[in-house]
Amino acid sequence: METSSSLLYSPGTKNIIYNGSVADLEGRGMDRTVLGKCREELQRLMDEVQAGAGKTVSDMTTIPEENFPDPTDRALLESNRNFTLRLRDRERKLLAKIKEAMKRIEDGTFGGCEGCGGEIGKKRLVARPVTTLCIDCKTVAEEEEGR
Ligand SMILES: [Zn+2]
Repeated sequence: METSSSLLYSPGTKNIIYNGSVADLEGRGMDRTVLGKCREELQRLMDEVQAGAGKTVSDMTTIPEENFPDPTDRALLESNRNFTLRLRDRERKLLAKIKEAMKRIEDGTFGGCEGCGGEIGKKRLVARPVTTLCIDCKTVAEEEEGR
């Protein structure tokens, strides 16, 4: 647990933030509600991704290549397969994010921003519990990406 929080926060502010979020978790009734909602949403997301991933796998296996003797069809099949693989890659990454978020709920670091060490807004957390950045840091990150 110590190792994951030191990864999230710079050494100088780590303890303050860490203690701060623990205090929040224990001190405020509302945070439990927010945490509960986030946990529910994460579970829902995970079910959704896993259901989707299962479907993708069966789609890939139920279309035998022999059914596409035409080169055009084969190319189409090939590009479909590439698309499917990209989709699965995204699913895999989302699943990893969901698991990380659940772990943060367990160890009490959930809701802390990786960028500035501040708190992520509760509405933002409930709407997008896999996020690790507050809205300000997210905006900055997106601006930098766009440059
Ligand atoms: Zn931030």
